[in-house]
Amino acid sequence: MADWKFATKTIQCGYTPGDGEARIMPIVQSTTYKYDNAQSVAELFDLKREGFFYTRLANPTVDAFEKKMAALENGVAAVALSAGQTANAFAILNIAECGDHVLANAGLYGGTVSLFSNTLKKYGVEVEFFPQDITRDELAKLVRPNTKAIFAESLANPALIVADFELLADVAHANGIPLIVDNTFPTPYLCNPFDFGADIVTHATTKYIDGHATSVGGIVIEKGGFNWNNGKFPGLCEPDESYHGLTYIKDFPACPYSVKLRAQYVRDMGIPMMPFNAFLSNLGLETLHVRMDRHCENAQKLAEFLQNHPKVAWVKYPGLPGDPGYALAQKYLKGASGVLCFGAKGGKAAGERVMNALKLAAIVVHVADVRTGVLHPASMTHRQLSDSELVAAGISPELVRVSVGIEDIDDIIADFDQALAQA
Ligand SMILES: *Cc1c(COP(=O)(O)O)cnc(C)c1O
Repeated sequence: MADWKFATKTIQCGYTPGDGEARIMPIVQSTTYKYDNAQSVAELFDLKREGFFYTRLANPTVDAFEKKMAALENGVAAVALSAGQTANAFAILNIAECGDHVLANAGLYGGTVSLFSNTLKKYGVEVEFFPQDITRDELAKLVRPNTKAIFAESLANPALIVADFELLADVAHANGIPLIVDNTFPTPYLCNPFDFGADIVTHATTKYIDGHATSVGGIVIEKGGFNWNNGKFPGLCEPDESYHGLTYIKDFPACPYSVKLRAQYVRDMGIPMMPFNAFLSNLGLETLHVRMDRHCENAQKLAEFLQNHPKVAWVKYPGLPGDPGYALAQKYLKGASGVLCFGAKGGKAAGERVMNALKLAAIVVHVADVRTGVLHPASMTHRQLSDSELVAAGISPELVRVSVGIEDIDDIIADFDQALAQA
């Protein structure tokens, strides 16, 4: 199974039916499970054997989805959660506590910026943002004794900046801390951050993984093999009194980070992925490799069309030669994904006129599904950011973000053409 190619894994991994069982992983819509004796439940509670005891902690449908996602990212384990926001919050809180510090690149998804600069701060975790073009030495200087992770988006939403994984991983590993990468936009089909030094990957599965805009979801995936036992991560290396003295790195050496996340955070705070969402997310995932090729192809063609349009001031798409992200995209990504940004001549007002005149492309607060959609971050997703946060995130007031769907590209281009004619 491990050496299956990507397309085979997206379809076959995670669930293997037995004789006479459902070919498709069923939706196990049950909070609870039944046992033959008390001993068997006790062993489950002690994490001495694998199985299901309560759907907040694990569920067969969710488990199959987790296993497939772990296989696609070449990780050892995954924990699926109710939203991408939960994935990023838990990924950090699992290793950073009150008094700790985390470094994150600027230009992140608005919800993540808000999580990092408001909510985590209230928990006593300080997240410091560094500019995308930071050098190795400058980044190394920002690491403090209490820094517990470096966080980056592989392809930032919506700034569309490509992370320089090797630089980030070098600095992280020289300091004994993990690199956490939100890989939502490239998906494992276009990029495997573990190959470039990441230790933990997160996804908003809400986006391309589901791909059809049906299910909000998130996931945290562990690469395995990180040396947590360097004095910085007592929560993983010392007995967990809340779990009768279990020591994650000793009792679960293959995937201590994931077991801790589930045993502590999902146990105490809940917010797991629900079986029906796991079923839909998995169904979407089965065609990821086919969809992503078309998303990339259509986005490239629309980017080229817009770049040559007299009413367009600028286009940002890392698949365009000349884009500041082009070289890093060539190095790290198998394709530049399906999202591009542009500014119409005439600024914000002209951008709004274009958006209003589009017929096929709808105004939606979403990206990364099969239907073409547009959004104006400054007045929508990133509305809660201050002007300086907007600049740091690479969002100018006129920026229109286009999530290029997999409809016929001729129809998509014709729609933008007629809308621009009216702007
Ligand atoms: C959408 C998104 C999130 C948040 O995911 P939700 O499922 O909406 O909570 C996090 N990171 C990135 C890059 C996203 O695009």
